[in-house]
Amino acid sequence: MGKLVEIIGLKKYFPIRSVGIFSKIKGYVRAVEEVSFSINEGETIGIVGESGCGKSTTGRLILRLIEPTAGDVVFDGQALSGLDAEGLRQMRRHMQFIFQDPYASLNPRMKVGAIMEEPLKIHNMGSAKNRKEIVDDLLRVVGLRTEHASHYPHEFSGGQRQRLAIARALVTHPRLVIADEPVSALDVSIQAQILNLMKDLQEQFRLTYVFISHDLSVVRHVSDKVGVMYLGRLVEFSGKTDLYLQPLHPYTQALLSAAPRMDRRSKEGRIILHGDIPSPANPPPGCTFHTRCSECMPVCKEVRPELKTVGEGHQVACHLY
Ligand code: SF4
Repeated sequence: MGKLVEIIGLKKYFPIRSVGIFSKIKGYVRAVEEVSFSINEGETIGIVGESGCGKSTTGRLILRLIEPTAGDVVFDGQALSGLDAEGLRQMRRHMQFIFQDPYASLNPRMKVGAIMEEPLKIHNMGSAKNRKEIVDDLLRVVGLRTEHASHYPHEFSGGQRQRLAIARALVTHPRLVIADEPVSALDVSIQAQILNLMKDLQEQFRLTYVFISHDLSVVRHVSDKVGVMYLGRLVEFSGKTDLYLQPLHPYTQALLSAAPRMDRRSKEGRIILHGDIPSPANPPPGCTFHTRCSECMPVCKEVRPELKTVGEGHQVACHLY
């Protein structure tokens, strides 16, 4: 499997402005800090962390839906920072996003056929007849019927709408799909169906996924490798098996101990995280997790641990290693 995407030192700061006519920048929300990893063709990278950890912003930065403050993304050998608006528009055909709320991402005033055809028109792909065939094919592939093309999004259930959103993301035959909490708004019974559909489509269309979720059990189900984020930084990155069997970072250990598991009958061994996540506008010095870490040492409060390799494909940012 060759490397498809390289994420290099991505950083995103959102300015905080004072109120008033002459509003000034009074600080920054450090949403993403120096995030680097690479993605091989055909694999699924899971990104997990609590709400506000920067995982969704990282997804948007990878597709350049928002401009990074620093850093770059190299897609199939092409640095996205080197592309002009037209180059980026053409590149987007190969990179698509699936949002958490399919209802918000599907225009309620357009029929499904038109919604799905839209990306093909934007990228000048196919004749009108061709486009209709592509739409019909994809509706069938995601488990819907061709007559659904003449329906509006509100006529579908939540699970069907997410099938539509997935079909729409695939019409341009992308190579990379970033899915941001694609099943968290769905009933548990429907979640498994959508996850299985995404897995089947990955094989069928040779897709590469970045799967963003707060839910470790969902990420475990779909991912080959997993990155754990805390306060905008990657604190651990590893192959799935290693991460779930031998989590190294105290934050990963706490997240995993809190995740529901069929084989855990009691709350024994559960690590309780005390305190709230600090504000990303004013992150703690040293290791940003030190305010909640039960293993905190004096060095942790002063020196930020770098992400370093501690085993084959296993990286962790913690002074314990
Ligand atoms: Fe805990 Fe220190 Fe490791 Fe941070 S560096 S996770 S505070 S032990």
